[in-house]
Amino acid sequence: MRSQNNRKKAAVSGAAILAALTLGVGCTTATGEEQTPDAGTTPMIPIVEEHEDNGKMVGNDWYNVGDEVDESLLDMQQLASYFTMEEISKDGDIYQRILGKSFPEDGSMELSKLRYLKMLYVDYEGKSRCGEMIVNAEIADVTLDIFEQLYEARYPIADMVLIDTFWDTDGNTTDRKSIQANNSSAFCYRTIAGTNEMSNHADGYAIDINPHDNPYVWCNPDGSPKLETLDAHEQDMMEDREQKEHAITHEDLAYRLFTEAGFTWGGDWSNPLDYQHFEWNRQ
Ligand SMILES: [Zn+2]
Repeated sequence: MRSQNNRKKAAVSGAAILAALTLGVGCTTATGEEQTPDAGTTPMIPIVEEHEDNGKMVGNDWYNVGDEVDESLLDMQQLASYFTMEEISKDGDIYQRILGKSFPEDGSMELSKLRYLKMLYVDYEGKSRCGEMIVNAEIADVTLDIFEQLYEARYPIADMVLIDTFWDTDGNTTDRKSIQANNSSAFCYRTIAGTNEMSNHADGYAIDINPHDNPYVWCNPDGSPKLETLDAHEQDMMEDREQKEHAITHEDLAYRLFTEAGFTWGGDWSNPLDYQHFEWNRQ
């Protein structure tokens, strides 16, 4: 497993390059005098290019969530620099996006236990994109490591935005909308659908991957899945899973990486069957 140290080092080197370039095009003369822009011309704003000498970009500040990312600008030697975590600040935009939605307003969840991840993924069309996810701090590093390996292997992921993007009424209604958008996500303070028990998603210990292609379904007493609770596409994805594109099975790379890292796969459960779901084995 790649260490968090490498990730930090990559980020520092990006900042150093940025600082060096900024100095190189600064507005001060060699003698330290301020230069005055000519009246009537565009003010002198330093053009800062966050790149290395080889024209590659490091760090992930140069693109936004949802953006297609130009792969020719990525430095695969610095791949970890595109997979970052940050604490969520009460002063920041992320907190405003989740407050009263996936994050409860009543104090029943501690913000400091969560980390916001910004990651690359390869979409179903084979394009590199920037995704986001919120997970428990305890699994943030292992999650970045898994998604970095999925990216290197060009593992297809349909979409990866915060579940709050689909917010409607409550956590479980929203979860259903996120599933139907085939959106991969993790943290959402909610119960297990149809029960009063809190889900492992409620404290960011569970991650759902390509959920519309990997259904979550309760079973009848005879073990057969309640197919009537699924839409037509999900019903289709329940059959001949080994032959279906984007179906997570025991042969799947996501299954292998998550389970080797210490997650349990919901596809191995008997009731419910939860093919999209990986949850951390808490000690
Ligand atoms: Zn799940």
